[in-house]
Amino acid sequence: GMTKGKEVKPHRICVCVRKRPLNKKELAKKEIDVVTIPGNGALLLHEPKQKVDLTKYLENQTFHFDYSFDEDATNDLVYRFTAKPLVKTIFEGGMATCFAYGQTGSGKTHTMGGDFSGKSQNSSKGIYALAAQDVFTLLRQKRYADMDLCPYVTFFEIYNGKVFDLLNKKAKLRVLEDEKQQVNVVGLQEVPVSSVDDVIKMIERGSACRTSGQTFANASSSRSHAVLQVILRRRNFLHGKFSLVDLAGNERGTDVSSNDRHTIVETAEINRSLLALKECIRSLGQNSEHIPFRMSKLTQVLRDSFIGENSRTCMIAMISPGMNSCEYTLNTLRYVLQNF
Ligand code: ADP
Ligand code: MG
Repeated sequence: GMTKGKEVKPHRICVCVRKRPLNKKELAKKEIDVVTIPGNGALLLHEPKQKVDLTKYLENQTFHFDYSFDEDATNDLVYRFTAKPLVKTIFEGGMATCFAYGQTGSGKTHTMGGDFSGKSQNSSKGIYALAAQDVFTLLRQKRYADMDLCPYVTFFEIYNGKVFDLLNKKAKLRVLEDEKQQVNVVGLQEVPVSSVDDVIKMIERGSACRTSGQTFANASSSRSHAVLQVILRRRNFLHGKFSLVDLAGNERGTDVSSNDRHTIVETAEINRSLLALKECIRSLGQNSEHIPFRMSKLTQVLRDSFIGENSRTCMIAMISPGMNSCEYTLNTLRYVLQNF
């Protein structure tokens, strides 16, 4: 289930953590679960201090979040306390952004995408589909129905600092900034949608595009950021935008063992963009005048998310509970908790 932090206030940045269950592979290897969710939005990491007798040298360390979700939490529950409260923001003319952060295999795509339709057994819809559902529910409500709001979807991937359109055969797109610092992804398909099913079709199309094909950009979806946006336009003008971001795996940030030039470039780019993201979210939290959004392509295309009185952000840290993931887990916890 879920536990709530002691001092959850309505603020612009919500930081949460989700622990996934040990998977079959980890269970088969008899990996020790080193993460517990004790309550009050906390997460307890039993950190091995020495590699000799692991169980003997575990040292507890507590981390505090707005909400913490344990291995029994459903996507539905996670959604309810993370992205759902942000949906109304885009109806009120604001920007909402939800990030899934964590090492590869920690559950980012499971949480964001889930099973798109929720049709197959033992599967559940992810935040993409649940948010889309709520957008259409609100669109039909009386107070918004008269506002003439039209919903659109975009879905793109950022790999090695380049933008690829997942709704248009992975076309490589240019990012331009005008004199008013407005950022424009040139040619990005903005598909009009009129039902949740329409959105799910786009999610399916984009996700298939993300993981298939033969170009270098398909090397691995874990090394790219995927951004799904639900956009509301009013008489063609931008009214609100909800960006749902499945970030690149952060484990690359610690992988310095590789000598492969391609991997080194890739790693540097992921590090750069995740660092830029941290800086931008920090600036947003401090109401800073200067948002360093030009530090990376990721933050540049998300510029709208970091400006404006009415911007709201949610960061969900995904945690693999196994002892062998401990180092990455610590990195993830430190990243999402430092200075936000
Ligand atoms: P990531 O996108 O972070 O690389 P995935 O979302 O692909 O990780 O998750 C890796 C595997 O773990 C998938 O098979 C996924 O279904 C499973 N998984 C992730 N989170 C959960 C969870 N909370 N409950 C059950 N299975 C999960
Ligand atoms: Mg993934």
